[in-house]
Amino acid sequence: MSVAENLYHIRQSLPEKVTLVAVSKTHPVELIREAMAAGQRVFGENRVQELVAKHQALTPDVQWHMIGHLQTNKVKYIAPFVSLIHSVDSLSLLEEIDRQGAKCRRVIDCLLEMHISMEDTKYGLDRASLQGLLQNPRFLHMKHVRVRGLMGMASFTDEMAQVREEFRTLRRTFQDIRALYFGDKESFDVLSMGMSGDYPVAVEEGSTMVRIGTSIFGSRTP
Ligand SMILES: *Cc1c(COP(=O)(O)O)cnc(C)c1O
Repeated sequence: MSVAENLYHIRQSLPEKVTLVAVSKTHPVELIREAMAAGQRVFGENRVQELVAKHQALTPDVQWHMIGHLQTNKVKYIAPFVSLIHSVDSLSLLEEIDRQGAKCRRVIDCLLEMHISMEDTKYGLDRASLQGLLQNPRFLHMKHVRVRGLMGMASFTDEMAQVREEFRTLRRTFQDIRALYFGDKESFDVLSMGMSGDYPVAVEEGSTMVRIGTSIFGSRTP
């Protein structure tokens, strides 16, 4: 099936309020153009260099999301244009985003990445370090970042009960944190969870943003 057909079917299966991030990593700009012709405007990449190159190649009305691990020394390359960074998992990274946001006179939207899977290779905060970050005076003084919500990746497994439990835990954390630290602020409204293999479960468990690559663009050659 074509990119347009894939997008059509995925959108049909998603509730209207769920944002679809089309994960275009490793795929050429032509395929992104195809997705754009089908109405898609939000794209996710996981490498800074590729994100910058694709941003430069395409029109300004694309919203670019950084979804992969971000090194502090690379924030400066994406700060001028990135719409949402999903993968913030330390105070020092958030500080650098704040610093670069100030330089570009922007407030940069971010999600805090939580470690919810059984795998220990993946990045992300645990609940205690999340709370530590949110209570830290250094965080409270930041003026050029806005924490919009949380992101997480479930275990890479066919055990959907396990995946569901991980998403459920993340949704509970999201709700608790919103009540405790954001006074139910409207801008703390993003729960980014769900990929090609598990997004229906993520949506059932309260995801507001899914990050889908393979099911739109086909498999990636490593
Ligand atoms: C690659 C990637 C995705 C998309 O994965 P698919 O299985 O291709 O849908 C989602 N989130 C992150 C963080 C990724 O790196």
